[in-house]
Amino acid sequence: MHAIQIAESGGPEVLRYTEVPAPLPTEEEVLVDVTVAGVNYIDTYYREGIYSAEKPFIPGFEGTGRVVYDPQGQIAEGTLVAWHHAFGSYAEQVCVSRKGLVAVPDDFPTEIAASMLLQGMTAHFLSHGVYELGEGDTCLITAGAGGVGQLLTQMASSLGATVYTVVSSDEKEKISYACGAEHVFRYREGWGEQVRRLTGGRGIDVVYDGVGQSTFFESLEAVRARGTVALFGAASGPVEPIDPQLLNKHGSIFLTRPSLGAWTAQEGEFQMRAQAVVQAIMDGDLKLNVSASYPLEEAAQAHRDLQSRSTTGSIVLRVTPD
Ligand code: NDP
Repeated sequence: MHAIQIAESGGPEVLRYTEVPAPLPTEEEVLVDVTVAGVNYIDTYYREGIYSAEKPFIPGFEGTGRVVYDPQGQIAEGTLVAWHHAFGSYAEQVCVSRKGLVAVPDDFPTEIAASMLLQGMTAHFLSHGVYELGEGDTCLITAGAGGVGQLLTQMASSLGATVYTVVSSDEKEKISYACGAEHVFRYREGWGEQVRRLTGGRGIDVVYDGVGQSTFFESLEAVRARGTVALFGAASGPVEPIDPQLLNKHGSIFLTRPSLGAWTAQEGEFQMRAQAVVQAIMDGDLKLNVSASYPLEEAAQAHRDLQSRSTTGSIVLRVTPD
């Protein structure tokens, strides 16, 4: 089968389109023909070696496609499914844990099915788990026009929270307002202080920061006393170690570094979050914007675009025709 393979850590150029043997499912997995694979920031961390995997490996975690073979014979051949945690998804076939599958209706848009779970469930656990948003709460989201950012903005505002975001361009500002942001900031020095001023000096109840290194200290400025900072990613690089005393200085704030793995680990939690995302999309309550799709062999360009901050919403790789 054709796949993207990584033999050494590095820039987008290490993503090589090649031919490899098809994988074999264990009893706990099903083999799937991949139609479209989602592209996520975590894929760049694996490519660069920030997260390690035995080389050579096929990157990618999520996608949509049709079941080819279930060793237990429970899922019929041809069933359309989506997943968020099958390492090796940048390929024509991948093995997916049967516990990590959701069925997708046949008329569901393929590119949305491929990119809804990883980012959608992240938005869900941040807004419904890490800090349960409700009427009257305030939250701030960095990279408000990104994949997670757009979904989190919509979920937070539908829960009744006032949403502030930070973005880098006029185009992204427009997108963020369209998702429901009340006020959109730019990453100028001192934006944390500007946010605080806008809230009459009180600060924000919860800051969701997926940008990391370049925004973290401003996020601490923006949060209210006893509020929460959820550092959920590192698009600009990892945050250096900090002195816990800093949390005291900012008013007894809570700092968490949450992961989707931990927030889907309890019995039934993956299905609950996945179904919530799928249902919200089907009901029209959650709009997922796939802004670019690339053929599988152009995965390197997809990574370049993602890391150059030129993308908005989600991006995907087209693997095989529908
Ligand atoms: P995005 O679509 O949000 O892309 C990243 C965005 O980060 C860019 O578009 C850009 O938006 C912003 N950014 C700010 N500074 C930089 C920089 N120096 N270099 C690159 N980008 C920068 O990606 P995703 O939605 O896939 O992921 C968003 C974050 O969420 C990532 O950090 C990812 O790791 C994290 N994540 C964490 C999960 C978890 O379980 N904890 C699960 C899923 C995602 P702008 O131009 O507005 O600054």
